[in-house]
Amino acid sequence: MIRTRFAPSPTGFMHIGNLRTALYAYCFARSQNGKFIIRIEDTDRTRYVEGAIDRIYRTLDACGMKEDESDRIEGACGPYVQSKRGKIYAEYAKKLIELGGAYYCFCDKERLESLTDEIGNRKYDKKCASLSKEEIAKLLRLGIPYVIRQKIPTCGTTLYTDLVFGEIQVDCADLEDNILLKSDGMPTYNFANVVDDHLMGITHVIRGTEYLSSTPKYNLIYKSFGWDIPQYMHLTPIMKNERQKLSKRDGDANFEDFTAKGFLPQAIINYIALLGWSPKNNTEKMSLSELISAFSIDGLSKSSSIFDEAKMKWLNSQYIKELPFDEFNKLAIPYYENSLIASKYNYSMFSSLLQQRIDILSEIPEMVAFIEQFENFDTELFVRQKLKTDKVLAKLVLPKLIDLFKNLDSFEHQSINDSIISLCENIGLKKGQVYWILRIALTGKESTPGGGIEIALLLGKNRSLERLSLSYSLLH
Ligand code: GLU
Repeated sequence: MIRTRFAPSPTGFMHIGNLRTALYAYCFARSQNGKFIIRIEDTDRTRYVEGAIDRIYRTLDACGMKEDESDRIEGACGPYVQSKRGKIYAEYAKKLIELGGAYYCFCDKERLESLTDEIGNRKYDKKCASLSKEEIAKLLRLGIPYVIRQKIPTCGTTLYTDLVFGEIQVDCADLEDNILLKSDGMPTYNFANVVDDHLMGITHVIRGTEYLSSTPKYNLIYKSFGWDIPQYMHLTPIMKNERQKLSKRDGDANFEDFTAKGFLPQAIINYIALLGWSPKNNTEKMSLSELISAFSIDGLSKSSSIFDEAKMKWLNSQYIKELPFDEFNKLAIPYYENSLIASKYNYSMFSSLLQQRIDILSEIPEMVAFIEQFENFDTELFVRQKLKTDKVLAKLVLPKLIDLFKNLDSFEHQSINDSIISLCENIGLKKGQVYWILRIALTGKESTPGGGIEIALLLGKNRSLERLSLSYSLLH
């Protein structure tokens, strides 16, 4: 049975690179009828951020990625939070010492500092690896603080085959005898990831490339214990540009930054799925279940991809368009509440105009602002070469539109449209020309939700007439 895991550290927001790791681990497990496990890696208490665990679960829920085992869903391999597994690590660290894969190190801070070279690098010199059994027993009896370090062979090479990157080989001489268990008894990542992946029966470890070159070192621990080594897939980072990773400092690297901007979770995961993986048929718009069916390891990329917000916006607009109307309206409400039209109108009228026109929900306040806001605008907006409209034409048409509006008995779509059509016939203009002039005159804006008639209906007859007159006066 395939078992994958997502092992986030609760250090703040959910970076979309991490979310993508979760997504691939989830899709791979589901595509193989396997299990997807969540493990919280919180042993570094200095980086722990209150509320971060809730945010992890909240994000996965919003994206529809349900795990099979975690701290909130019972499973056979718990606890699934590393800070609750202290005893397990201590026990396995001692076992590893007995097996010759690790040793006690009693070196104090001063001594370790003295090992720093001129350029600031420090590598432990394995001094404690050669302590005798008697010396160790004595130091332990005296209560001297210690850490437990991995014992790396002094020569030879270690290698493994990554499912994305192929063979990775390192010289043992280049590896350090890293700390596995700290003096406070807490494990480091170097140890905890191995013990947990083994005890949780993880068959495929899917994580970022930052672990690609330390994995041979972790494999030495598996070997010392005589455990099966899992398969590995290391994933390239998501980049901001050719050289820089997309980072928190860019302001836009976290899942919630994007949802706050009005991206839908399904569009976010669809887009990030394609950053580092491509389906065989090159489809772009894919739901989570389609991603699961299409997911395959050979689609994973060795080179990193650059995040393109415009592309994600396009995908988002596709998802917005196909939402059931009520759902779209519900999602849009907070954005109306936060706009100039807040609690003044029936929002669903706007939603029916906006759903097919916006890319992200946060465009809504700006798109509806014209209803309450109408100021002197640049009359150059009447000029549209493609339609052959200009200010002279606007000056000619506006009085006619004012008369037309005044004389309408019923202010409805059909009747306005019919009268505009006969106006066009009378004065020999195209519908598009009159609509353009009407829309600019009613809003003073180049892009608006809906055409002239829809906007006139939102404004009502009196306000439409006021605006037409005002626009006309601007042309003098
Ligand atoms: N806690 C590690 C991280 O957030 C997880 C690495 C792994 O998946 O093994 O980077």
